[in-house]
Amino acid sequence: MYRSLIILILCVSYAPLSAQQYLPLHSSAIVADGHNDILWRVMSGGEMESRATTGHSDLPRFREGGMDIQLFSIWVPSEKTGDDAWQFALDEIDSLKAIAARNPAALQLATKPGDMDRILSGGKLAGVIALEGGRCIDGRRDRILELYRRGLRSFGLTWNHSSDWASCSKDESTGKVKGGLSEKGKSFVRLLDSLGVLIDLSHLGERAFWDVAANSSHPLFASHSASKALRDHHRNLTDAQLRAVAKSGGVVMTNFFPGFIVSNMNEKRVKRLREFEKKAAALKKKHPKRGKDYMKEYDRMVAAAKKEGICTIDDVVAHIDHAVRIAGAEHVGLGSDFDGINLTPVGLNDVTDLPMLTRSLMKKGYSADQIRGILGGNFLRVWRAVVENG
Ligand SMILES: [Zn+2]
Repeated sequence: MYRSLIILILCVSYAPLSAQQYLPLHSSAIVADGHNDILWRVMSGGEMESRATTGHSDLPRFREGGMDIQLFSIWVPSEKTGDDAWQFALDEIDSLKAIAARNPAALQLATKPGDMDRILSGGKLAGVIALEGGRCIDGRRDRILELYRRGLRSFGLTWNHSSDWASCSKDESTGKVKGGLSEKGKSFVRLLDSLGVLIDLSHLGERAFWDVAANSSHPLFASHSASKALRDHHRNLTDAQLRAVAKSGGVVMTNFFPGFIVSNMNEKRVKRLREFEKKAAALKKKHPKRGKDYMKEYDRMVAAAKKEGICTIDDVVAHIDHAVRIAGAEHVGLGSDFDGINLTPVGLNDVTDLPMLTRSLMKKGYSADQIRGILGGNFLRVWRAVVENG
């Protein structure tokens, strides 16, 4: 009898996961994403309120992907400087507020973790205003306070430009700047801490990262960063940085961008990746309900891409796995970078594919609690700690 029980258990654990197994976990979990650039698309005339055929997200697709909390990136194009950059950031915040006001049943803005009960109970998406790149404040403390007043709750100190108070990973990696935080930068960190604003370390240079770690009293937070041990890129975090995030009680949200995930990208593979993206879109169109036949074809597609050495959802899971091994499952989350990237891994092509990531984590052997944490629980814990210690 025991033998047949063991055989039964083996069969169950090696059987392909069915939709029934991973969907309840995904839909009951709080799913949070640390970084989405759709507002940039909106500012360029793109659509977010109805279903779009381009890009990686919009209100209907957020719902379909089971998303609960989205950090919306306020990103200012490089050519905007001085007051133009500041005005662009404010207009971007206003555009998100206008979208939320027009779609109260789909999106509401959150300024504190305590807003979640109200927003999530109705099945709505909670939007958090998150700055990507502090250059637009032009080194002014009063502008940090103004952004806070307007609802901003995550502040990325740099994008790919250094300021005179913080250095970015790109400039530190090329030696363009000496790197680190100036005294002004350190005072901004203390101000953000006192306001209870998340200090986003993604894009920050390593020296500046360590300066924040030494000067902030809050858990460390990186909204969209992968691991340097798997892909040596200046945007990724070293194992020492991952350990520091864990030690602080913080969270690293894993980026999905193939360029940060795998190191073998070349022109030929990029071309193949684009072909796979088209194939994935056609597959979803053919199987809108994504039943068993879809899963079979999906698995075949991912396996075919893997065979060719093309970046897939499994490569993203490998980065999650690595971060978990170094930092612990309580310190890892998701930071898609959707709508800010021009390529996506096969099988993780837009926000509606997030349930497939839950399926992949289950297949990898993660427990339901670990998966709930990675999907969003860890982010929410960190946000709570930052607000309560503010
Ligand atoms: Zn970014």
